[in-house]
Amino acid sequence: MLFAAEPLAPTIESARKVLKKYYGYDAFRPMQEDIISNIMGGHDTVVLMPTGGGKSICFQVPAVVQEGVCIVVSPLIALMKDQVEALKANGIPAAYINSSIGSSEANNIAADCLNGHLKLLYVSPEKLLSDGFLSFLKRLKVSMFAIDEAHCISSWGHDFRPEYTQLRVLREQFPQVPIIALTATADRLTRRDIQQQLRLTKPKVFLSSFDRPNLNLIVRPGQDRVGGILEFLERHQGEAGIIYCLSRKQCETLAQKIQAKGIKADYYHAGLTPNQRGAVQEGFLKDDLQVIVATIAFGMGIDKSNVRWVIHYNLPKNIEGYYQEIGRAGRDGTPATALLFYSFGDVMSLRDMLTKENPQLNQLNLTKLERMQQFAEAAGCRRRILLNYFGETLPHDCGNCDICRNPPTTFDGTEIAQKALSALVRGRERLSISLLIDVLRGMRNQAVLSGGFDQIKTYGAGRDLPYLDWYSYVHQMLNDGLVYIAYEEGYALKITDLGREVLQGQRPVSMKKFQPAEKAEKKPRGRKAAATASASTPTSREAQLFEALRALRKRIADEQGVPPYVIFTDATLTEMAAERPVNRVAMLGISGVGMKKFDTYGEAFIREVLAHGGNPAAQADFDDELPANLDPDDPGAPRAPRKKEAAAKKEANTEAGSTIDTTFQLHRMGLSAEAIAERRGLALSTIQSHLTTLYTNGAELRLEDFLSSQDLANIQTAVAQLGGQPLLRDLFDHLREDYDYFRLRLAQQYFRRLRGEG
Ligand code: ADP
Ligand code: ZN
Repeated sequence: MLFAAEPLAPTIESARKVLKKYYGYDAFRPMQEDIISNIMGGHDTVVLMPTGGGKSICFQVPAVVQEGVCIVVSPLIALMKDQVEALKANGIPAAYINSSIGSSEANNIAADCLNGHLKLLYVSPEKLLSDGFLSFLKRLKVSMFAIDEAHCISSWGHDFRPEYTQLRVLREQFPQVPIIALTATADRLTRRDIQQQLRLTKPKVFLSSFDRPNLNLIVRPGQDRVGGILEFLERHQGEAGIIYCLSRKQCETLAQKIQAKGIKADYYHAGLTPNQRGAVQEGFLKDDLQVIVATIAFGMGIDKSNVRWVIHYNLPKNIEGYYQEIGRAGRDGTPATALLFYSFGDVMSLRDMLTKENPQLNQLNLTKLERMQQFAEAAGCRRRILLNYFGETLPHDCGNCDICRNPPTTFDGTEIAQKALSALVRGRERLSISLLIDVLRGMRNQAVLSGGFDQIKTYGAGRDLPYLDWYSYVHQMLNDGLVYIAYEEGYALKITDLGREVLQGQRPVSMKKFQPAEKAEKKPRGRKAAATASASTPTSREAQLFEALRALRKRIADEQGVPPYVIFTDATLTEMAAERPVNRVAMLGISGVGMKKFDTYGEAFIREVLAHGGNPAAQADFDDELPANLDPDDPGAPRAPRKKEAAAKKEANTEAGSTIDTTFQLHRMGLSAEAIAERRGLALSTIQSHLTTLYTNGAELRLEDFLSSQDLANIQTAVAQLGGQPLLRDLFDHLREDYDYFRLRLAQQYFRRLRGEG
């Protein structure tokens, strides 16, 4: 048993050892260390940290260091299961008890608790408060109570759970046991409720920064959302993500459209049965599903660390909800994207919804919605606005939001504003935003004609500007207070005094030039952005190894029935791909590789690195070397095969290996098909047929050498247009001979792989 042998002194040094040994991390994040010291000092503690900030370690590490068992109260079954699996994978004995656990299993767990084998026991609040459970706990040595998702205690919060309000019995029944409350929701009222209701005694409150610098924040106008999403998915192939929609129907249709592109997607909403929901969640956790389209019902219990992006199809109701949802991306700390589609129409429907939903909280909720809208319409750094909302000030612009990356240029917008204002006056201030734009652009639709707006003088005066530009400028006028919306009059725009001054030429208006967001996404700027960009654009050799490691992780995960990120996070794989560790010392030096994980997976991953470090045909040699490399007492073992040796081996094998292998080697060395043909004195078509065979047999090629994502999209469209599984010749013709057979074959195989057919 791992634990019997090590009674640890509750010091921060022991905690650091535990962090390295079980989690494979070298250092605590800034606040973690203070929190852990406070907990180990036996004090009540409140931890407020954003999702992904590293809350779990704050109670898990002291739980390992201290005597007894830590009881973790957690509201969601899926979350418990995940955390317990992750703990076990790190070699820390943990278990959970909730309604999903049968009585004989529960008895075993109880026995493990009694004989001191467990360090952490997760329970649902219902279970904790059920008959006999508290008296069972009295027979144990409880080191502490950790209340996860503690904001559930507050009726002010967005996830209120009545069971949580009963948790004060813990303090009554266990006055000596410290209580740790943890949450990612930091507002003042919630914080106060947590302290009061749990009866915490002079707790120390740790409020960490809510900044998540690795999240790239982007807002796009809400036109052609589906097109925008499909285009986004093109650029983020194979990356897991969540799309939040407001309605169930939207979820289903969007999921279908994404599936039609050959992407593994599914939907998730409250209308599904618990079994269906469980299956979708499981598929996502296991990387079997790449995209989930969900209502807000999805995600609270999701600990998946390799979610690479979150898209909001609609504007969220408030910044708390938005921040929590985007927080599900990039928990592993590597670059991730949060994309929000915004249209004023969303604000209108949300206003209607909120007004109906809860008249008492009406004003509060509407104010929150306005803050959300401000964020979406911002003309300055978005992260500053977000952090400001949580009471933090960022001293500089973030460099990793759409505005920072593509700062808008300002120009004299007086004339533009005057055109719009004049149209409003002539339309007797009865025009909504979209109608105003239609009138300015001279559209002839029902609303324009029936209102007689095609007769006014300014009709068509703004024809020269596209819809989206006008859309942006009218919103700027709203934000600048030149106009306001009369909600009670069908959302008609009204002119303010300031607006009249502009119209009369007494006041100039400065405007920000409208820029479509995709451009912004590709052009990182600033300090943080530079770091982020370099992390997200590894060399293709590194990217290949990453993909191979990811595939290995998936295979092992499936064999063991756990989610892939429980084995290693994306951050750990990224570091492995860059460092290429091929021995024990180097592997243990990778952040996220602890002792237990090294013992379980180290060898498999080292083999994979070796397989990518040199020639597959030379694998046998490397295999022989493996035990020596793995020798724990040999810190001098080579970190990676010496470059020259590897190259020599490669050459030797080039002579001996099969002709296809040779092509593969040269391809991996970065040579183009033409260069390989020239070097080997073979026909290009022969090399191309080698590459096709390799790819069909599952080898990883640099597909991007042959097909851009646009090419793939074109070919896919053609396949769809032809229907079924078209013959190559038909495809070739249909695409007007733009693509040769070689590229078409590769593309077909690519789609087959996407569909999971090989
Ligand atoms: P939270 O519960 O606050 O959402 P987690 O506890 O899940 O966050 O931690 C987020 C990620 O950060 C996890 O992958 C975790 O392993 C990692 N992490 C936490 N603390 C550290 C640390 N000190 N060093 C490196 N990675 C860490
Ligand atoms: Zn910014």
